[in-house]
Amino acid sequence: MKGKNWRDFEPEKKQHMTEARQRRKNRKRRKGGLLKKLKLAVILFIIGYVGFMVYYTFSKPYTIALDAGHGGWDVGAEGILQEVELTERTVAKLETLLKEDGRFRIILSREAGEGMEIVERNAKFQKKKPDLMLSVHGNANDNEGANGFECYPSPPGHENHEESLVFAKLLAEEMKEAGAKLRGTDGVRFGYYDPSGEKVLVDSDDTKVYDMPTFGMLKNMDCPAVLVEQCFITNAADVDAFGDEDGCQKAAKAYYNAVCRYIEMLEETANT
Ligand SMILES: [Zn+2]
Repeated sequence: MKGKNWRDFEPEKKQHMTEARQRRKNRKRRKGGLLKKLKLAVILFIIGYVGFMVYYTFSKPYTIALDAGHGGWDVGAEGILQEVELTERTVAKLETLLKEDGRFRIILSREAGEGMEIVERNAKFQKKKPDLMLSVHGNANDNEGANGFECYPSPPGHENHEESLVFAKLLAEEMKEAGAKLRGTDGVRFGYYDPSGEKVLVDSDDTKVYDMPTFGMLKNMDCPAVLVEQCFITNAADVDAFGDEDGCQKAAKAYYNAVCRYIEMLEETANT
């Protein structure tokens, strides 16, 4: 019997080679198909992302920075309620009203319950470049009779003083409309700290530029900035009117109205 020499195996080998080549080709094709799909997915993702950002930017043209005063370990003043309860309650309600409006993007200085130093909250707002900044606080006094609303715009000599004053006047008007008593001449004051760290408050007609620092949240803001003292948490009638759930809702609505009026004024000026 004749033995098989290597030539006898050749056709089989050739067939093996063809199959292997085919497998390689298929693998390549599969790989190519996968790569194409991946590329398409990346392109679709980029288009979707850019589209979303364009929509997000242009559908909500105004960014409002909201600061609920105090927080975490710092509960603020203590009276019939803790100051932080009032600030967080009001900011949550105001955030809801502004979001429902649809024109506003909201930045919070901190989450409810979170503690954060004023310098950090202020730095966060400086970085995010909002169009308006509102910091909410509650007032307190050893004299339980002290009552009413007051607010502090960025004072004379500081950035955006004029615009902050306009916004502050709107806030005071809206709070008056909601039933608040305005403190001082018109509920608008300028706040400073003297060299010993004591608060110095002057009425809005005192336009002198003082060489004293103002409140931390009003510093170096690139937009109108106002701090409100919503009511006295040491006064029962004030807490009834602007400190409980309904009261904070009333105050939030007043602030919301003031934000809308300010923005509408800006739009009117831009259109004339
Ligand atoms: Zn406070």
